[in-house]
Amino acid sequence: IPPKKGKPKWLRVKLPTGKKYTQLRGLVDKYDLHTICTSGSCPNMGECWGEGTATFMILGNVCTRSCGFCGVKTGRPENVDWEEPEKVARSIKIMKIKHAVLTSVDRDDLKDMGSIIWAETVNAVRRMNPNTTLETLIPDFQGIETHLDRILSVAPEVISHNMETVKRLTREVRIQAKYDRSLAILKYLKDNGAHRTKSGIMLGLGEQEEEVIETLHDLRSANVDVVTIGQYLQPSRKHLPVKQFITPDQFKKYEEIGLDLGFRHVESGALVRSSYKAHKHIE
Ligand code: SF4
Ligand code: SF4
Repeated sequence: IPPKKGKPKWLRVKLPTGKKYTQLRGLVDKYDLHTICTSGSCPNMGECWGEGTATFMILGNVCTRSCGFCGVKTGRPENVDWEEPEKVARSIKIMKIKHAVLTSVDRDDLKDMGSIIWAETVNAVRRMNPNTTLETLIPDFQGIETHLDRILSVAPEVISHNMETVKRLTREVRIQAKYDRSLAILKYLKDNGAHRTKSGIMLGLGEQEEEVIETLHDLRSANVDVVTIGQYLQPSRKHLPVKQFITPDQFKKYEEIGLDLGFRHVESGALVRSSYKAHKHIE
C-alpha cells in the first residue's frame, strides 16, 4: 500500500508476510471467514497471525452508534444470527487461532444489547477450541450491570473496553458514550471478578499531553491492567480529521509513564491497535 501523502515515515507499513500469514490468508479466502484484521486492513496482520492471534466481530456489521472515528457503518442493524456463535467458533478452529479477540458493534436496539450472543459466543468458542484463550472487547452496554454480568459469568481471560480518547474529546469522538461511564464499567468488571481488564486510546485527535496522562491515571484508578495507545488514522474524509501525528519518542514517553503508574502491559506506538500483541495480555 503506498503511503498517503503527508504521512510520516513511521506510519508506512510493509505488506504482511510470513509462512503462517500466507497459510491463514489462504484459509480465510477459501472459507470466506470474517476477521477485523482483514476487513480493517490492519497493518499488524503478519505479526498477529504469525502468533496465532486474530480479531472477530460479532452481532453484524451495522452499528446503532456513530462514533466520529469509526469506519463501521451506522444504521438499522440486521437481525441477530443465532448461529453466529457456532460460526465464529468454527472459524477459530479452522484458523487454529491460539488467542482470539472478540468484539462487536453496539446493539442499542436489542433488549439484551447483544449480551446473550456475546456470552454464547464465548461458550461456543470454548467448547470447540478448549485451548484457545479469549479477549472480549465489549461495548458499554450503557453500563447496565445485568449485561456486564453475562460477560463476567463466562470468564474470558481478558475483558477490554476502550476509552478511545481523553475526557474532553469524548463527546466529539464517541457521541453516544460517556467517559465516566466507561471508566465505571472497567472498575465494575475488575471489582466483580474479571481476571484482566484492558482499555485503549487513540492519539492525534487534538488531545494534550496532560490529558493523556490524566486518562492513564484514571485507568489505573479503575484498576485496569493493560492499556494500548495508538495513532488515530482517518477511515474516510467524512470522519474526524487527524490533528497530529504523534512521534515515536512521544509514544515511548507514554509507555514509560504507563509502566511507572503500574500497568502490567503498555502497548504504545503509532501502529498499535487495541488487539495488537493481545496474546501477551493474559500474562
Ligand atoms: Fe488483527 Fe488486531 Fe492484530 Fe490488527 S492488531 S492484525 S486487528 S489482531
Ligand atoms: Fe464503531 Fe463501536 Fe462506535 Fe459502533 S460503537 S460506531 S462499532 S466504535
